[in-house]
Amino acid sequence: MARELSTARLARKECISEVAQCYHFEFVVDAMESFPYAPGQFVSAVAEDVNGKMQTRAYSIASAAAGNRFELCVNRVEEGFFSNHLADLPDLPVGGTIQIHGPHGHFVLQEPITDSILVATGTGVAPMRAYTQWLFPSGGPDRSNGKQIWLVYGTRHETDIYYQKEFEALAARVPNFHYLPTLSRALDSWSGLRGHVQVHVSKIVEERAARLGLPLPQPAVDPAISPKDLRFDIYAYICGLNFMVSGVRELLTGYGWHRKQIVFERYD
Ligand SMILES: Cc1cc2nc3c(=O)[nH]c(=O)nc-3n(C[C@H](O)[C@H](O)[C@H](O)COP(=O)(O)OP(=O)(O)OC[C@H]3O[C@@H](n4cnc5c(N)ncnc54)[C@H](O)[C@@H]3O)c2cc1C
Repeated sequence: MARELSTARLARKECISEVAQCYHFEFVVDAMESFPYAPGQFVSAVAEDVNGKMQTRAYSIASAAAGNRFELCVNRVEEGFFSNHLADLPDLPVGGTIQIHGPHGHFVLQEPITDSILVATGTGVAPMRAYTQWLFPSGGPDRSNGKQIWLVYGTRHETDIYYQKEFEALAARVPNFHYLPTLSRALDSWSGLRGHVQVHVSKIVEERAARLGLPLPQPAVDPAISPKDLRFDIYAYICGLNFMVSGVRELLTGYGWHRKQIVFERYD
């Protein structure tokens, strides 16, 4: 069955990394008063390619719901159709439109909010930005319940740390938000964290367990508890390419984490 499409008008477009060719987009759905969604969900964008074939791609929404607006963060994929269609100025100038359906997806925060480790690489930071905007709105009440929220963001070079200033400002404003960008190919001049995200996720898990006096690996969940009644005091949310997502899932499973504690979205 064909999905109902909505038209989204581009209000702003900014290249946020020349080197990585990553773009930030702000869209408005003029025909709707509000475009509601849960942070972490995605829209499906639809466009016709040069052969007249309709192409659909998923893009995580990079902002918390606000009226009829939503934001995306997309990087060009070499030879890719849709990412270049969005990024190319002649294809999509400010004021131009795209067709979308959604919101879709289950990559959403578990409630009540618990301590949470957000793990992202590349544009996988998009849903994390939506989460943090929702948890710590600048003009509204905090929704984090005072829980510890870590964002571990992995990339190769300093030039592709997307939204770095925003996350640094949030970490400076909110004591329970911890921002940990880490580089796998850092220059000597980089004074921040190095290595893959796994290294830093391990540290968080181990230091937290030591601080709270919790055993590691975590004891197995009683199989008599029905999956719908399972509740945990910490969750991980992982988003990016499958290679990284699988690595972090494996790491956490090794600490005895239950699969329901590990929420993930794969882009490939
Ligand atoms: C739920 C979901 C949410 C997503 N959210 C985002 C987002 O917020 N931002 C974003 O930039 N992308 C996101 N993606 C990926 C996006 O849907 C497209 O796959 C991506 O933009 C490439 O599409 P394309 O048409 O440009 O390339 P295609 O024409 O589909 O592919 C061209 C070539 O690139 C390879 N390729 C496809 N996708 C990727 C990729 N992501 N990285 C590297 N190589 C790739 C393909 O294997 C193919 O060889 C998301 C994917 C999913 C499933």
